[in-house]
Amino acid sequence: MSSKPEPWSLVVAGGGPAGFMAAIAAAEAGQQGVLVLESTPEPLGKVLISGGGRCNVTHACWDPRELVGYYPRGSRALRGPFSRFATGDAVAWFDEHGLALVEEADGRMFPRANRSTAVIQCLRQAAQRAGVVLRTSEALQGAAPSPEGGFSLQLRSGGSLRAERLVLATGSHPSGRRLAQGLGHGLEAPVPSLFTLAFKPNPLLPLAGVVMDPVDLELETSGQRFRQSGPVLITHWGLSGPATLRLTAFAARALHQSGYRGQLRVDWSGGRSLAQLEELFSQCRQEQVRKQLSNARPWPALSRRLWQHLLDQQGVEPDRRWADLGKRQQQGLIESLRRSTFAVAGRGPFGEEFVTAGGVALGEVNLATMESRRVPGLYLVGELLDVDGVTGGFNFQHCWSSGWLAGQAIAAASSPT
Ligand SMILES: Cc1cc2nc3c(=O)[nH]c(=O)nc-3n(C[C@H](O)[C@H](O)[C@H](O)COP(=O)(O)OP(=O)(O)OC[C@H]3O[C@@H](n4cnc5c(N)ncnc54)[C@H](O)[C@@H]3O)c2cc1C
Repeated sequence: MSSKPEPWSLVVAGGGPAGFMAAIAAAEAGQQGVLVLESTPEPLGKVLISGGGRCNVTHACWDPRELVGYYPRGSRALRGPFSRFATGDAVAWFDEHGLALVEEADGRMFPRANRSTAVIQCLRQAAQRAGVVLRTSEALQGAAPSPEGGFSLQLRSGGSLRAERLVLATGSHPSGRRLAQGLGHGLEAPVPSLFTLAFKPNPLLPLAGVVMDPVDLELETSGQRFRQSGPVLITHWGLSGPATLRLTAFAARALHQSGYRGQLRVDWSGGRSLAQLEELFSQCRQEQVRKQLSNARPWPALSRRLWQHLLDQQGVEPDRRWADLGKRQQQGLIESLRRSTFAVAGRGPFGEEFVTAGGVALGEVNLATMESRRVPGLYLVGELLDVDGVTGGFNFQHCWSSGWLAGQAIAAASSPT
């Protein structure tokens, strides 16, 4: 990548997925003089560690009306952007740029090479081919509209630049939020999203490592109720797994408000009604008369360790036979299968939240172009906005969509009419 003289027609602050997409889309649509500033030595750092090193690029959800349901912050407002560039467009875009994506059984889409470095290579090559200039270890520290038009930019290194247009793509980094605020934008307070739940003490500790699917979760916190279903993983400190992460994404603000306290009701029954469970238990009593309860679960997908734990909690001796299960004990077991209750006492211990809820409110941005409604020529994309999705590739999808829209709009605004 060669260096260009000032002024730049477009400076993108932030070499993450949203910034790269904005820069490439603008350059491919004819914008010349595009510079990406990345504060760290290597761009696309989160892409590298994403999806356990495999990068879950997007999700096979093709209908924008359905897609918006996966964004606790953003939701319906994203219909417009997604109707212009959604998952199908992202898959086609990567395909055109030499990166084939494959769909897994649960809808998540990964590079065929199954490593995040393939995504990084694709984006870096596309940027280079389109003539985008990348400066690493160079942070944008200040930005102000110039009286003669465009922006004057201060760099952390002490240098300065001029840019006709500016894209802020700084993710959840506080410096980007400060820049947006300095340019007149209001911010929704940042709070973590997509995290695991801790119980103190953790009555499920002996079951660490058990996976159950599907499980119904109902969380009450800050006077609100949130429900999710799906797989959960029991951990040393509480609960993790996709259903837990989705639950905490939708409850992110309410949980923050309550200091991460609440009541979690867990239904392990796999969606069975009370009548269905009673019927199942009565069948077991008839068909497994002589079997010991601890060796014969009511249904095969119920984890053996969880079943034995529930028997223990209800004071049912493990060697008791199905035929000898008393009515009260049966009721207790069914009750604990349908509603085990836990006191939520915090987030998981490793600060392992994946995204930040909060950022620049969507109402302050024109969602057809991602241009600021406050400052002409300024564009905001990616996680800096008050948009976040659940796990499954939705967060990157928003980066591809918002970045592409900004890039297209910038090139269109710059081209002679
Ligand atoms: C461990 C982990 C795994 C994840 N896995 C997935 C996944 O598989 N699928 C998915 O959809 N989402 C995943 N996510 C979420 C996803 O990584 C983010 O939503 C996404 O990276 C946001 O992209 P962005 O471009 O907006 O911001 P970022 O990726 O954060 O990029 C912003 C860039 O801007 C730079 N920067 C910041 N401030 C400045 C400045 N002042 N000047 C210059 N540069 C600056 C930063 O160094 C950074 O490189 C994961 C997140 C984590 C933490």
